[in-house]
Amino acid sequence: MSQIFSYEFDTPSFKGKTSFNTGLYIDGQFVEGAEKQTHDVINPTNGKVTTKICVGTGKDIDLAVKAAQKAFDTKWGLNTPGSVRGKLLNKLADLMERDAKELAAIESLDNGKTFSWSSSIDIPGAIATIRYYAGWADKNHGQTLETDENKLAYTRHEPIGVVGQIIPWNFPLLMMSWKIGPALATGNTIVLKPSEFTPLTALRMIPLISEAGFPPGVVNIVNGYGHIAGQAISEHMGIEKVAFTGSTVVGRKIMEAAAKSNLKKVTLELGGKSPNVIFDDADLEQAVNWSSHGIFWNHGQACCAGSRIFVQSKIYDQFLEKFTAKAKSLKVGDPFATDSYQGPQVSEIQFNRIMSYIDSGKKDGATVHLGGEQHGTEGYFIQPTIFTNVKPEMKIVKEEIFGPVGVVIKFEDEDDVVRQANDTTYGLAAAVFSQDINKALRVAHKLKAGTAWVNCANTLNPQVPFGGYKQSGIGRELGEYALANYTNVKAVHVNIGQKM
Ligand code: NAD
Repeated sequence: MSQIFSYEFDTPSFKGKTSFNTGLYIDGQFVEGAEKQTHDVINPTNGKVTTKICVGTGKDIDLAVKAAQKAFDTKWGLNTPGSVRGKLLNKLADLMERDAKELAAIESLDNGKTFSWSSSIDIPGAIATIRYYAGWADKNHGQTLETDENKLAYTRHEPIGVVGQIIPWNFPLLMMSWKIGPALATGNTIVLKPSEFTPLTALRMIPLISEAGFPPGVVNIVNGYGHIAGQAISEHMGIEKVAFTGSTVVGRKIMEAAAKSNLKKVTLELGGKSPNVIFDDADLEQAVNWSSHGIFWNHGQACCAGSRIFVQSKIYDQFLEKFTAKAKSLKVGDPFATDSYQGPQVSEIQFNRIMSYIDSGKKDGATVHLGGEQHGTEGYFIQPTIFTNVKPEMKIVKEEIFGPVGVVIKFEDEDDVVRQANDTTYGLAAAVFSQDINKALRVAHKLKAGTAWVNCANTLNPQVPFGGYKQSGIGRELGEYALANYTNVKAVHVNIGQKM
């Protein structure tokens, strides 16, 4: 029997209870999984076990795909008008709003992000995304096409069928909303696998999905390990499309599995090493504040983190002094303390990974300008860290660290910074700071990135597409663009007069 997880929050930020089932959710039922395996969910604040959850294997994925196909054929897909799908998505958003504080608290417990962020960004962002796609559900229509007098031709945007969705641990519920919002709005059914590091908010969403009225089998949630349940999704012959957010290494594996199985459509939202470019005519205080947000927000665990900070030589010293002061002011501590800015990294694995990058920076001869050590002795906390005197070939400059570690690099002029900023295999995001709007836009256009921020950083909206150039991914999430990921275009030719 799958278990109920009950927890009482008694924190300065939130007091209240939560209780939900930790099983696999297949065809509207909680089950333990074919192999009856469990996984310990660890609290990153203290390294202790929060609860056990059921984890699925290929057999469970297979059952989930069958349930999703049945639901698609009988209750969803072309059987449910867009207006009804939109209504259910709006209902889901209402229920998430009702339980928003509880969802935020679960997210902070599970991921370690501060409650102030999860309650102001993650959960409201997830709700806004579901509402945004609710609005699209009855507006994703095709075109009527002019050909000749004997023909009526039109297109239909039809749902693909069963889609697989594999999400990461850095923004668990937000990423879930980016995935399920457009997929449900367009009429697909889902097999979703949360990250094994942060499975809890997805589990808490299940009663809300059911209460909103989505028929059984429309959304199936199977927790499990990437190389087992995730791999089973990627290679399943009954899944026609897979959407993934996570590392570039795993993105490659997913594409490979998709190619070797049924050539399922793939969208990938992968890593980044985003440049943050500060010209000497920028509003310095704003540039400092946004750059700090760019790299230290969510403990640096953001694919679009502005981890390479390029500063024009004339203001380099001044910027570094102010940026250092800002970083020093960020309080690292308990995610539920009201004055914490930064909580622990998500897991011991990530903690060790980041610390090994910091060590490599030290060994390679970069200067640790600030931080560079564990914060405290318990949990997976790391000091906000700034490296200077770096070289382009250093690992800390080239590779995604996914932690609160930024490198500050001097540049001379526009051409120099565009060349340095684009010298990366990634291309997810970039930011430019200048009060000369012509220069800011010119450089924003020259930077090879799917998102370019001007005088801001790390701001996202459901209406605006997000995705990568180069090895940062394939396809776009959010906005109208995401609808195409979840639809097949059917062209219908109607003869209105041609005789054979
Ligand atoms: P990951 O790519 O391994 O995990 C992301 C998701 O993919 C998880 O749900 C995981 O279970 C699943 N997965 C893992 N192996 C799989 C496989 N073979 N087939 C199918 N699914 C699989 O990420 P991670 O190991 O948790 O983190 C490692 C690095 O990935 C991070 O340090 C960071 O650089 C990057 N990352 C990026 C993002 C992003 O938003 N782009 C998010 C998380 C992690």
